[in-house]
Amino acid sequence: MTPRPVLIAPHAALRRVCDPVEQFDGALGDLAMELLRAMYLAQGRGLAAPQIGVSQRIFVMDAGWKAGQPSPMVFVNPEIIAQSDQLVSLEEGCLSIPDHPVVVARPAWVDLRWNTLSGALQQARFDGFESACVQHERDHLDGILITDKEAA
Ligand SMILES: [Zn+2]
Repeated sequence: MTPRPVLIAPHAALRRVCDPVEQFDGALGDLAMELLRAMYLAQGRGLAAPQIGVSQRIFVMDAGWKAGQPSPMVFVNPEIIAQSDQLVSLEEGCLSIPDHPVVVARPAWVDLRWNTLSGALQQARFDGFESACVQHERDHLDGILITDKEAA
């Protein structure tokens, strides 16, 4: 199955506040697989459901696959429950905004809580590049793009 194409800004689907996932069923697993396929196909490190036109609170990430072994991760209903006071600026790219990297200042680390595909709750701290990545993808679920955070 070919995944749906990644939507490019300005597309209305990228600006929606997505709905919480309530059904942890086979369709959700299929959506996660589709997101991962689309992400790897586009040479990305993260992809959120609204980027393929699905208004649900789920994103995928594999921050290190270009450097070594793939380690796909799926985050359903992710929430940042704590964050560093220290801000770090990193250049970020977005598959929905091709060829327009933006330097974004974000908390150096975040504690993220999310549901797995089976609905179980998980929590972990992310720092470095992964911290920026989970915050970037989490923003997509609220219709927020990196161009909104571009320094004036
Ligand atoms: Zn993005």
